[in-house]
Amino acid sequence: MTRQEPPAPEGVTALLDRLAELLGPQGCLTGDRIPEGARSDASRSGRNLPLAVLRPATVEQVSRALALCHAAGQPVVPQGGMTGLAGGANPRTGDIALSLQRLTGIEEIDPEAATMTLKAGTVLQSAQEAAAAAGFLFPVDLGARGSCTVGGNIATNAGGLRVIRDGMTRDNLLGLEAVLADGTVLSNLGKTVKNNTGYDLRHLLAGSEGTLGVITRAVFRLRPLPRARSTALCALGNYADVLALLALARTDLPGLSAFEAMWQDYFALNQRLAGLRLFAEPPPFAVIVEVQSDTIALQGFLERAFDEGLIADALLAQTESQAQDFWTLRDGHAMDNHLPGLINLDVSISVGRLDDFARACRSALLARFPGAHVSFFGHVGDSNLHVAVAFPDGVEDKDHAADDIAYGLVRDLGGSISAEHGIGTLKRAWLGHSRSPAEIAAMRAIKTALDDRGILNPGKVL
Ligand SMILES: Cc1cc2nc3c(=O)[nH]c(=O)nc-3n(C[C@H](O)[C@H](O)[C@H](O)COP(=O)(O)OP(=O)(O)OC[C@H]3O[C@@H](n4cnc5c(N)ncnc54)[C@H](O)[C@@H]3O)c2cc1C
Repeated sequence: MTRQEPPAPEGVTALLDRLAELLGPQGCLTGDRIPEGARSDASRSGRNLPLAVLRPATVEQVSRALALCHAAGQPVVPQGGMTGLAGGANPRTGDIALSLQRLTGIEEIDPEAATMTLKAGTVLQSAQEAAAAAGFLFPVDLGARGSCTVGGNIATNAGGLRVIRDGMTRDNLLGLEAVLADGTVLSNLGKTVKNNTGYDLRHLLAGSEGTLGVITRAVFRLRPLPRARSTALCALGNYADVLALLALARTDLPGLSAFEAMWQDYFALNQRLAGLRLFAEPPPFAVIVEVQSDTIALQGFLERAFDEGLIADALLAQTESQAQDFWTLRDGHAMDNHLPGLINLDVSISVGRLDDFARACRSALLARFPGAHVSFFGHVGDSNLHVAVAFPDGVEDKDHAADDIAYGLVRDLGGSISAEHGIGTLKRAWLGHSRSPAEIAAMRAIKTALDDRGILNPGKVL
């Protein structure tokens, strides 16, 4: 890859002057006006403030700002809502951040095509609310909905809570517009589901974590707004029953929209922290089953699961607030305060082997870090597990031994070291556990073809 040296200090001053002239005082923040939040995403791993935060308000401004940075060889880090968990939006010393904060708004909801066209800085929850007001479901949902942006969702190909039904972000993307490193605008905001006209640049940019282009606008497919939603929390005695329950749910519940499992330690701690007593004795596995229909189908399903001996106990939420209690345990926000320094590893393994992984991972981590908290939860219906790890007081994992242990096991089981959070900086060292040298070489070739000077989010992913 041809790389240009970053601009000399006097060159940076001249560049910042030109950017300030282009974007105006609200569009180019320097010095004391750089917000502290530009330092790190939600992984809290970022240490550096950027040289400046650019806040373009139009696609043309994004294009012209990037063209100036490209000409100067100036590295640029795209930033959305800064809720990422892989360090992908963290600036290095000397980087300029390009925030999509002012490129917001829904441009169109087309009820016939069932699509939404919107700008990349729009917060996910705003898109969901606008879709609901028009009688549709916005098909992406995740815990960070109140802060993350749809551009960030596309750039990380976010998964989330309802992938089992609606797929990952890329599965709901019909059109995309992005600005390349040199300012070229690639725009294809079509609303059609079928479009086999050569290479699919939309899918290349989805999941590219700001390294190939700055996403500026997108067209999302909308789904019908469900008339009802029913949720149950099931207690199971072993993982074989979790797998059998999943198979039954797939055949018996056409409206299945979530199948989320909590391993015993995770459920027990979160139940205690939340002050709830849903199951007096935390079961070996607790599973949330959610369907987009009234309770009749779910009730019948639970009865069948009881008859087949798959579940030991179950609670069918009678109110929205009861369902919320189930999700409170699953989201586990109370753990963040209770276990300072908690890390959350996100991996994907064939669903039948998830518990094998959990057992091996728990014993290897506890052998290396006696007294650590290690617990497991995740989108089991999508073969996606999260590992929550908190080290004992005074212990720091400076060598990233926990990642090494977990990702080594993932490699041995043929899984993916990142199911949904991306690679960013935090997983870069282990990319080779899930991708072959030939694949990584092809990725590098694509990066060079689209960003010859390597100015877009350098040091991330590759
Ligand atoms: C409480 C919580 C729950 C979460 N739950 C989930 C979950 O269930 N599933 C899941 O997948 N993730 C989850 N996440 C992670 C995070 O919310 C997602 O990765 C989200 O998609 C990031 O969006 P963002 O706007 O905050 O992006 P940022 O954090 O700002 O950036 C993420 C990456 O995308 C790039 N980027 C951002 N915007 C653009 C753009 N417009 N163009 C090009 N590149 C861009 C950045 O450079 C960076 O590499 C969770 C995070 C939190 C804090």
